Amino acid sequence: MEYFVLVNKDNTLDKTFVPDDLVDAKSRYKEGILVNKKLLDNFRLMAKDAYNLGYDIDIMSGYRDYFYQEKLYNKLLKEKGFAYTFRKIAKAGCSEHQTGLAVDLCVYRDGKCYIEEEIDEMEEGKWLRENAYRYGFILRYPRGLEDVTGYDYEPWHYRYVGQIANDIYFNNLTLEEYLEKTCK
Ligand SMILES: [Zn+2]
Repeated sequence: MEYFVLVNKDNTLDKTFVPDDLVDAKSRYKEGILVNKKLLDNFRLMAKDAYNLGYDIDIMSGYRDYFYQEKLYNKLLKEKGFAYTFRKIAKAGCSEHQTGLAVDLCVYRDGKCYIEEEIDEMEEGKWLRENAYRYGFILRYPRGLEDVTGYDYEPWHYRYVGQIANDIYFNNLTLEEYLEKTCK
């Protein structure tokens, strides 16, 4: 699978699709989180540089198979209804978590773990937004580009795309726009 693979509401994955290069992220948040190996190598470099600045970041979610995503989607749908769910979580087959190339990040500070919207205003969240591209990651669902990505802003969701992260970051693009522009 190419690191720039696009998975969204219009570009879906089969029920049976399981990526082949998954490894254990050894996350402190939860045991058994799997992610793409190359992603993890680069995440470790990023986490190490962050740590040297006093920031402690970790992975709280990585690879999710089709059926787990289906469970998450249906749970939210039941609790919050369609209009909300549609903008918050991918239907099974439409989630890039199924590629193993997407992670949800959390921040540890003073013995406490911060997740999701909580990291937006934190220094760590800002540092990630400004530096993740150096390690091949992009903030996948940026603020203000909800109409392009189809999802609300998610300060915690990062996608490993490899080298093209540079172009995407400096040109303020989404993955959708980048791929359209370059006809990949
Ligand atoms: Zn996510």
